[in-house]
Amino acid sequence: AQRLFDPLQQFAEKFTVIQAGFTAIERVSDILDEPIEIRDQASRHLSGFEFGYIDEIVNNLDEHEVTAKRGEIRFEHVWFAYKDNDYVIKDLDFVIQPGEKIALVGPTGAGKSTIIRLLCRLYEPTQGQILIDGIDIRDVPQAELRRYMAVILQDGFIFAGDVKGNISLGDGYTIEEVQRAAEKTNVAEFIEQLPQNYHTQLRERGTNLSSGQKQLLAFARAAIRDPQVLVLDEATASLDVGTEALVQKALDELLIDRTAIIIAHRLSTIRNVDRIFVLKRGELIEQGSHEQLIEQGGLYATLHNLQMLGS
Ligand code: ATP
Repeated sequence: AQRLFDPLQQFAEKFTVIQAGFTAIERVSDILDEPIEIRDQASRHLSGFEFGYIDEIVNNLDEHEVTAKRGEIRFEHVWFAYKDNDYVIKDLDFVIQPGEKIALVGPTGAGKSTIIRLLCRLYEPTQGQILIDGIDIRDVPQAELRRYMAVILQDGFIFAGDVKGNISLGDGYTIEEVQRAAEKTNVAEFIEQLPQNYHTQLRERGTNLSSGQKQLLAFARAAIRDPQVLVLDEATASLDVGTEALVQKALDELLIDRTAIIIAHRLSTIRNVDRIFVLKRGELIEQGSHEQLIEQGGLYATLHNLQMLGS
C-alpha cells in the first residue's frame, strides 16, 4: 500500500541522494576499510598493485571469482516491534541463497515492508540478527550496504533533470555506460521514444512519466551499479499492456545473477521466483514454489484464488 509518509520511501530518496554524493576516492577507501570477508579475499590479490587500479581489479574479481559467494541473506530468529512489545516481525528465520529470487506475499500489515526496512537497516531487530554473506549488517558500513543492495520502490524517485542524470545520479558515469545499462535492462527502448532520448528533461517526482516508466528508469539506475542484491516493491498501479511487457522484460534482465527480494503484486512475477514467502501477522507461515503452495491449499492458495496477493 502506498502511504503518504512512508519511511521506506523517504529512506530510498535519501539513499538515492547520498549515492549521488559518492566520489571515486570514497569508493576506494570503502574498499580498503571493508570488514567484509569478500574484500579481505580481494585484498590478498591486491598487494603489489598500484592504488589506482584497485577498482578495476576488484571489479574483475567480482566477475570472475567472487560472484558466486555473494548475495546470501540470512535472518536469524529476528523479532521486531515498532513500539513496546507489539511485535510485527516474529521469529523470522531463513536463508536466501546467492542468486535466489524470493517473493514476499501476505495480507496488508503482514510485515512485508518491515522486512525490507530491517534489511536496509532503517530499523534494527529487537532480537536476532540479519547477515549478508555471513556478516551482521550492523557491522557493515552504510556506504557498503548501499552499494551491495539496490532498493526499488513502487514510485521510483525522479528528480528534475535529464534522463541520463536520473540514471547516473552524479556518479560520473559516461553516456555510453548509461546507454549500456539501459540496453542491458531493455529500458533503452522506452528512452529512445522520448523526445530528446537521454537528454529529455524530467520533472521533479517524474510527474511527466507513468509509474511504469519511473520503474524502468529505476531499473536502469540499479543496473548501472551492479548490486548483488535487489530489493523491489513492485508497482501495484495497473500499467498499459505495452509498458507492462517492457517492465517485465526489464525486470527479468535485472534479476539475472542477483539475489532478489520482491514484494510481489503480479501473478507473472510470483510464478517466476524460486520461493514464495507467505507472511501473516509477522510470521512466515508458508514457503515454496507457486505450484507447491497451490497444492498445499493454505493461505497462499486462498489469497491466490481471491487475487489479493499483495497489499
Ligand atoms: P502492506 O501490504 O499494506 O504494505 P505490509 O505487509 O508491508 O503491508 P508493514 O507495512 O510491514 O506491512 O506493517 C506491519 C505492521 O507494522 C502493521 O501492523 C503496521 O500497522 C505496523 N507498522 C508499519 N509501519 C509502522 C510504523 N512506522 N510505526 C508503527 N507501526 C508500523
